Amino acid sequence: MKMFRIKGGIHPDERKDLAAGKAIETVPLPSLLRIPLQQHIGAPAVTVVEKGDEVKKGQVLASARGPVSAAIHAPTSGRISAIGRFVAPHPSGLPGQTITMRPDGKDEWGELPAPIEDPFAVEPDVIAERVAASGIVGMGGATFPSAVKLGLRNRNKLETLVINAAECEPYLTCDDRMMRERSEAVIDGIRILRHALGVERAIIAIEGNKPEALAALKAVCSANQFKDVLIARVPTRYPMGSEKHLVQTLTGKETPARALTADIGVVVHNVATCYAIREAVRFGRPLISRIVTVSGGAMKRTGNFEVPIGTPISHLIDHCDGFNKEPDRLLLGGPMMGQPIASTRTSIVKGSNGVLALCPDETPARQTMPCIRCASCVSACPCGLTPFEMAGHIRKEELDAAVKIGLLDCIACGSCAWVCPASIPLVQYFNYAKGKLTAQQRAKHKQEETKRLTQFREERMERQKRAKQEAMARMKAEREAKKKAEAEKKRAKQETIGA
Ligand code: SF4
Ligand code: SF4
Repeated sequence: MKMFRIKGGIHPDERKDLAAGKAIETVPLPSLLRIPLQQHIGAPAVTVVEKGDEVKKGQVLASARGPVSAAIHAPTSGRISAIGRFVAPHPSGLPGQTITMRPDGKDEWGELPAPIEDPFAVEPDVIAERVAASGIVGMGGATFPSAVKLGLRNRNKLETLVINAAECEPYLTCDDRMMRERSEAVIDGIRILRHALGVERAIIAIEGNKPEALAALKAVCSANQFKDVLIARVPTRYPMGSEKHLVQTLTGKETPARALTADIGVVVHNVATCYAIREAVRFGRPLISRIVTVSGGAMKRTGNFEVPIGTPISHLIDHCDGFNKEPDRLLLGGPMMGQPIASTRTSIVKGSNGVLALCPDETPARQTMPCIRCASCVSACPCGLTPFEMAGHIRKEELDAAVKIGLLDCIACGSCAWVCPASIPLVQYFNYAKGKLTAQQRAKHKQEETKRLTQFREERMERQKRAKQEAMARMKAEREAKKKAEAEKKRAKQETIGA
């Protein structure tokens, strides 16, 4: 298959060998599961259970709120022991609304939706509804509700489904292991998704550093003579897994800034999402667990683990026998785009693909120096930006100027910071600026909303005042008319008596 070159990109040390050879292992249930209501992009789910409720595995705990949201289901059977705020899996370490559940050890399934025996014989909307009801979100880390992406077929003219199996972040091997060990189910999920989107072909994009996974998927397609699934071996280069870059590599088409790949006829889904969709469609099972890579030089034992959603990170680390040395960095996700873990009491959520405990020699502390204008960051940027220039503006708090030269097109891949010989934490600058812009936008929105509500209130009060004055005037007029009529009546009566 013909490939197209994309700009920039880097070759960080892969370190996938630490976990790639380890088969998926099931993690035993912890004594408590903490399940956050915000595990996806969009509105947090709304709790439909109460403290003290006994729930079954797969039962809905919280339902989707609004069009961009996702339902949350019980990862096992047990009792709801608390509903309240608990430290969220976010670098801020701030609390978020969380359901705490105590497993009963029976792991009993509740009533599930009926399996769809022939997914290729049902209307695409039936599959989209099942995906929505199963709480499936993008499992590559983006966590965008998958049913919303399936709905794009009603908005865009779609031609191709691209399956993101690049797994370009160093250390992570969970998708690799899934493709090797569950290749038939993965291909089935991809074909179901292709049917649900109404496109003719699906292309699986997989980096060349996963030969076993590549061979396993090819074997399934050729044994079944599937013509609707193509497998593309894409170059091993970070950030190949970025949606827009993957689409450009495969189709040569560039997605315009701030547009969706669907706008150029392509929809991208992560390979693990396809597996989850197949589970939901063929067996009625909602998304209640995921595969997580545990790796890094500070871990005693590394591997790939099937983990119930809501499992505390500390439980997973204990299952891997803990640390062999004090980790220098503890990350949720890969080393390039992962987030620092503020507390190991936080949970594995739907988008958690890795837990990394890195030791000092994996995260060399380098001293930041002034920019030497070498332009290495410019060459590395896959989005064609000028990172040193954006950082310069941000340092001077000139956020509008940074936006003008593309800040909002930055995908925060970290390639620029990785190549910078002056060790300037470029991506931190960009994340800081984006966070500040979002806060400013939120404040502006709030201000506008307050202004709108004040104006609305004033108009309402004015209307009420006017209505009251009109009513008073009406009453006065009625009173005077009545008085006049009575006087008229009295006068007429007196005239009759006088006559
Ligand atoms: S973090 Fe942003 S600016 Fe830096 S290389 Fe990635 S996309 Fe470009
Ligand atoms: S790579 Fe670093 S030193 Fe070189 S131009 Fe970019 S910011 Fe400056």
